[in-house]
Amino acid sequence: MCGIVGYIGAKQAAPLLLAALEKLEYRGYDSAGLAILSADGLSVCKAKGRLSVLFERTQGGASMPGTAGVGHTRWATHGEPSDVNSHPHLSHSGRVAVVHNGIVENYAQLREFLTEHGYVFHSDTDTEIVAQLVDYYYKGDPVAAVRAAEAQLMGSYALGIAFAAHPNMLIAVRKDSPLILGLGEGENFIASDIPALLKHTREIVRLGERELAVLTREGISVYDRFGDPVEREPEYIAWDVSAAEKGGYAHFMLKEIMEQPEAIRNTLSPRVRDGKIELGLTRITEEVIRGIDKIYIVACGSASYVGMTSQYMLSKMLHVPVTVELASEFRYSDPVVDANTLVIVISQSGETLDTLFALREAKRRGGRILSIVNVVGSAIANESEDVVYTWAGPEIAVATTKAYSTQLAVMYLIALHFAKVRGYLADAAQEEAVAALTALPDQVAAMLGKREQMQYLASLFFNLRDIFFIGRNLDYALCLEGSLKLKEISYIHSEAYAAGELKHGTISLIEPGTLVIALCTYAPLREKMVSNIREVKARGAVVIAFTDEADQTVPAVADHVITLPKCAQLVLPSMPLIPLQLFAYYVALLKGCDIDKPRNLAKSVTVE
Ligand code: GLU
Repeated sequence: MCGIVGYIGAKQAAPLLLAALEKLEYRGYDSAGLAILSADGLSVCKAKGRLSVLFERTQGGASMPGTAGVGHTRWATHGEPSDVNSHPHLSHSGRVAVVHNGIVENYAQLREFLTEHGYVFHSDTDTEIVAQLVDYYYKGDPVAAVRAAEAQLMGSYALGIAFAAHPNMLIAVRKDSPLILGLGEGENFIASDIPALLKHTREIVRLGERELAVLTREGISVYDRFGDPVEREPEYIAWDVSAAEKGGYAHFMLKEIMEQPEAIRNTLSPRVRDGKIELGLTRITEEVIRGIDKIYIVACGSASYVGMTSQYMLSKMLHVPVTVELASEFRYSDPVVDANTLVIVISQSGETLDTLFALREAKRRGGRILSIVNVVGSAIANESEDVVYTWAGPEIAVATTKAYSTQLAVMYLIALHFAKVRGYLADAAQEEAVAALTALPDQVAAMLGKREQMQYLASLFFNLRDIFFIGRNLDYALCLEGSLKLKEISYIHSEAYAAGELKHGTISLIEPGTLVIALCTYAPLREKMVSNIREVKARGAVVIAFTDEADQTVPAVADHVITLPKCAQLVLPSMPLIPLQLFAYYVALLKGCDIDKPRNLAKSVTVE
């Protein structure tokens, strides 16, 4: 995720682009840059850090004359945040400037091809190959060059492109990443999202998949992938600016919940190639993986619940003991770690201090460190031997949703890759698993369809003082996250219990009217769950139960049922969380809580 803007008109472009980028900083903020077109060609300025650094470097844009250009605020996926890795990227010849949102999956092959043809690369990004490839195909016709280059790209992209030799035009093209066009009087715009444009125009056109737009001062022409012109009525945006920043949603949390299919797709698809998992590990080699005799998963908060969920999966698939430890405890627990111990460290921000210190402790003891992190170049990423990034984009709401889901998705990849290397995954099973991963984003999207049902259930129960979650095995791990989500944002006291443990204590808390949310998605233990539901119902509890659509047993005992579509066991843990997030969201909404910034909490915890 990142923010793209483009302008062509009569005003000075740089100050206008900077102001527009400010509205997109929620999409990325590790570095920013501008490429401005003038009669003298292209001038570029870019800087690591927040937009303010670029603002100062260009005197608010004043130092860059020219009335057309493109800008970018980055959320790194390939190459750490640095001046040179910032966008726009220029082709080596200086003829083409590109800003990009997305991931070019085949960038390594394309880079090799271009290097063989004499192209010299300056950055570590996947994006630079786009500028070079367009340059390679450029023989005087910008549209033909962009189309030829685009045909070679695999992955996701929204691109804003400027040609030094064509100061009176900009090109925009997209696939799987968003891009919109803004229509003005004698000026036109490109942007990743609506807030960037509202100061200038409310007339927008959404660019469709693989559509390409040519922008001049006078107008915009859109072409489909076959080169045929597309006629599209502009849409009028009536939202105010603050609603627009949230994509029309009332809160970032809801927006991020809804973004999960895309975030999961971005995280999985570059790593699943030709039916195989490619994690790109360099230090945790196959030999290291074969030698592992113990795994620790170390994390805090929701990330530790990703660990709990994965623990069941990893120990079953890899036949090694897997222990989940809270980072703040691990560090002081004198852990038994040696060269055959793999320590998987999970942190959204990559800056969680407890987790960072735990990582250092594990390293000091000779453990092998693999991390799962959302922020490229963060401390945890830098200090790990290998990193598998979640490409969720920035998460603004304090309560995690899409980072959690993408961390879990990465765990599926790790489990499959390791199982394959250790000889526990037959080809047929791998094929099945890859099919399950490919289907996952759409299945998660289908779970978002439970929104109304969860809103309704929230309206029945938002006044309660206590809520209980029960489940067994994987469902228990999911209960922990569902309960935390509810507590964090709605301030309702809630407990997650292993359902079998209930009668060893907590059942004394169940009284008439107590809400119990029972997760019964793990089929092998469903009958046991039915008994546990009966136990709480006998004491007056009201039960919302989750089960799959084929099951008849749970609906026979529960008061309300959330049904999950049939899906592969591997990815099943990704499904129930979506309605649970929505439930927590709507309960908090009805209670009037500050959902994106719950009291006493901070997004990134950088104290012990
Ligand atoms: N893959 C590009 C980079 O790392 C674009 C990142 C993005 O879309 O956030 O620079």
